[in-house]
Amino acid sequence: RIVTRFAPSPTGFLHLGGARTALFNWLFARHHGGRFLLRIEDTDRARSTQPAVDAILAGMRWLGLDWDGDAVMQFARSDRHAEVAHQMVAAGHAYRCYMTAEEITAQREAAQAAKQPLRIRSPWRDRSDAPEGQPFVVRLRAPREGATTIEDRVQGSVTVQNAELDDLVLLRSDGTPTYMLAVVVDDHDMGVTHVIRGDDHLNNAFRQLPIYTANGWPVPVYAHIPLIHGSDGAKLSKRHGAVGIEAYRDELGILPEALDNYLLRLGWGHGDEEKISRDQAVEWFDLGAVGKSPSRFDLKKLENLNGKYIREAADDRLAALVAERLPQADAALLARAMPALKERAANLNELADGAGFLFAQRPLAIDPAAAPLLEGEAPAILASVHAALDALADWDTEHLEGAVRQVAEERGVKLGQVAQPLRVALTGRKTSPGIFDVLALLGRSESLGRIADRAT
Ligand code: GLU
Repeated sequence: RIVTRFAPSPTGFLHLGGARTALFNWLFARHHGGRFLLRIEDTDRARSTQPAVDAILAGMRWLGLDWDGDAVMQFARSDRHAEVAHQMVAAGHAYRCYMTAEEITAQREAAQAAKQPLRIRSPWRDRSDAPEGQPFVVRLRAPREGATTIEDRVQGSVTVQNAELDDLVLLRSDGTPTYMLAVVVDDHDMGVTHVIRGDDHLNNAFRQLPIYTANGWPVPVYAHIPLIHGSDGAKLSKRHGAVGIEAYRDELGILPEALDNYLLRLGWGHGDEEKISRDQAVEWFDLGAVGKSPSRFDLKKLENLNGKYIREAADDRLAALVAERLPQADAALLARAMPALKERAANLNELADGAGFLFAQRPLAIDPAAAPLLEGEAPAILASVHAALDALADWDTEHLEGAVRQVAEERGVKLGQVAQPLRVALTGRKTSPGIFDVLALLGRSESLGRIADRAT
């Protein structure tokens, strides 16, 4: 049975790269009918915070990435990690290293002078004359001969010479486990079969593997996915814009299904399909189609997809989301207006902006770009429209359209010459939903009031 996990460090919000890693793990588990687990890697006590944990959980819920069972908190398992380290010492797979700070500094300086990467060579690997009562760290007795190969599901076959690795620390001198040990013990204890994560962890895999082998534990399948880059090809960071997913939800007005779909397509593909539903993704997802080169984040593409999801979304759901952005709005009126409003919006901000006229106060503020349309003949035309509409018994789009067309005919002008000033009078703008929808939504008295404000 396949078990995957997402293992974020709670040192900040859930960012795009993390969300995509979580999504891939979720999809892989769901595709295979396996389990998707969540582990909060809170061992860095100075940088881990509860608000960050909450933000990660909220972000995953928002994206619909439900995890099986309770989230595992890594720090709470420190005793178990230490226990494994001590067992490894007892079995000869790890040893107590009493190197002093001076000795380590000397090796570092020698490595620097020789322009070599630092590989600690501890004399205690082969010594048995342990000093009494001296502080020590526990180091892995890593293999030095031969080479280690990982058949990575994304990166392919990757080999590292064991001589390039050193005896990494498993337990610090205060007895606390290192990150490298904790990850392996937790993945083993949680029964993780597939480790899918960013390729910035590929080097770590070579340091983690010997911990599995030393303990006689089955090694997981690795899939290291390329990081997300910005439009300039550099690793995605704050200077490219928002990286935290709550900014996409709150500030950029993106729907979660659109962000999921976009993140899925960043690094994975199924033919040319752009818009892929959750069910299709579960059916199609596999590691074979994860690309080897980094993909570039493109906000325009995300918004394009978001617009498609907005047009499909339920009107009352959109109305509720827009109401959060328009405090003066009435959700029922918003929901009625939604079929007309959602036709053009790429995000919820544009939707809210386009809905603003519904709740504006008279006299309306007029967009400077639209103001010229209220000049010249416009006030006289609007006076005729006002008279015609005032006489209507039925205020519905059909009758409204008939009346406005008749005004155009009587004045011998095109419909647009009536509709344009009418739109500006009713919405303050040059673009809006269809003018008869606008009249119907605003209702008789508000519409007539707004027209009267601009008529002679
Ligand atoms: N906690 C690590 C991170 O947030 C992930 C470790 C892993 O996936 O093995 O980068």
